Amino acid sequence: MRKVICVANQKGGVGKTTTAINLSASLAAAEKRTLLVDCDPQGNATSGTGIEKERVQHCNLYHALIGQIPPLDVILKTSIPLLDIIPSNQDLIGVEVEFVSLKEREKKLKTLFKNIDIDYDFIIIDCPPSLGFLTVNSLVASDCVIVPLQCEYFALEGLGQLLNTVKLVQSRLNPSLALAGILLTMFDTRNRISHRVAEEVKQYFGSNVFNTVIPRNVRLSESPSHGLSIIQYDINSRGAVAYMSFAREILANGRV
Ligand code: ATP
Ligand code: MG
Repeated sequence: MRKVICVANQKGGVGKTTTAINLSASLAAAEKRTLLVDCDPQGNATSGTGIEKERVQHCNLYHALIGQIPPLDVILKTSIPLLDIIPSNQDLIGVEVEFVSLKEREKKLKTLFKNIDIDYDFIIIDCPPSLGFLTVNSLVASDCVIVPLQCEYFALEGLGQLLNTVKLVQSRLNPSLALAGILLTMFDTRNRISHRVAEEVKQYFGSNVFNTVIPRNVRLSESPSHGLSIIQYDINSRGAVAYMSFAREILANGRV
């Protein structure tokens, strides 16, 4: 059965897009049919998978959300077999304002997914760095949420607000939404702060923290500029090994 997972944290630059791209690629490599949904007007998941901005100018998530193009027609193939994407660009900025007076506006993405009758094993949503309309739509459309947390000072700042939003969505809009877990990202073994943050998060959130920890790895930061996932760019890098192990953890544990 199809599982919808969103990657969310309103804090910017914590590794949401890197996680969304590389988890999707690793799931596809494990022969799971996967759809990556770029739900961020920055379009980083789109360019990070090698989709050119010009190509999606008139055909992206925005056009499907406003009902101008059928959802199936905005899905593109990526260079990875079994991985498709719904691309985005800055068009998505306008969607919140356009939907302001619409009924059930928080359910737009969920409805869009219902109208995609392709038997994906996973739909992975990359959220923008905010708790606004697009993130709420993603949470409403999801079975569970992965929260990437950067192993740096202030990592926990704002986490309470995010977890409150998750609770609000659970109570009012999507009772079956679950917290899949917190994913520690950009862990630097040589940095004492990384160790301290990781310990603190594990102490506080216990089994809600994934066993896999994503290391800080320069190959991970290079790969999007080549439009490639880490397993295409450098399969032997520590980043690739970590994201493949994260995909195995997702597939193995009952949390998602
Ligand atoms: P935004 O909130 O702007 O959408 P984000 O949470 O999606 O950001 P990313 O874009 O994934 O974060 O990562 C932020 C920056 O850090 C990017 O330049 C990315 O390449 C880099 N980065 C992410 N994860 C790692 C890592 N494990 N090691 C090294 N660099 C990383
Ligand atoms: Mg991002």
